[in-house]
Amino acid sequence: MVAVTYVRDIGASRAFYELLGFGEHSSGRADTSAWLALHRDGHYVLLASTRPPLDIPRLPLLFYFFFDDLDAAVGALEAARVEVAHMGHPPHALGGEVKLLDPDGNTVLLGQRERSASQPPAADDQASPRFSLLKEAAALVEARGGTTVMCQVSDARGAPCGKRAEVKLADAAGDTVWTCLAHADEILVTVRGSFIASQDEPGIGWFLSRRRG
Ligand SMILES: [Zn+2]
Repeated sequence: MVAVTYVRDIGASRAFYELLGFGEHSSGRADTSAWLALHRDGHYVLLASTRPPLDIPRLPLLFYFFFDDLDAAVGALEAARVEVAHMGHPPHALGGEVKLLDPDGNTVLLGQRERSASQPPAADDQASPRFSLLKEAAALVEARGGTTVMCQVSDARGAPCGKRAEVKLADAAGDTVWTCLAHADEILVTVRGSFIASQDEPGIGWFLSRRRG
């Protein structure tokens, strides 16, 4: 499998992915397009660019790379002044998980599957993969200008939550709710079939409006 992404500037993206240990496999260039295949440990990423550049919407998650030694990878990134956010130690990355943005603003997550003997036990195991997805969704909402809606969940006594809503959840019955991250996490755990409502999907309304012509 080869992962492909369109980028604005192949040179800038090459420098970024080289920091993650990728090296050039092959490349090509034409009048209105260019591509660069990078590889690392048998994995390939193909960067492509067009002129004029394609208008590509921001996605909540683009690439997840696992490393045997995450601390070394993060050290190389920080030495190159790339901003790295530590995301805790979710079950799929007991050795740690970090988030960064590639030169096009796409999210890249790096993880280490198992805790190594030299690492201290994690103190932040509440950072589940579900919670990192929620943070991704909230970051996307924020990038679109954020919300002014308050969390629509009340506590057990009926008092409103009082926090600003950060994500929208939905279920198969069509109910939706804007919530803070803590309440979103609680709903995703408690309500089977609930999911994070994407702000990017045109939705069923779009489908129906096309059928009406
Ligand atoms: Zn809340």
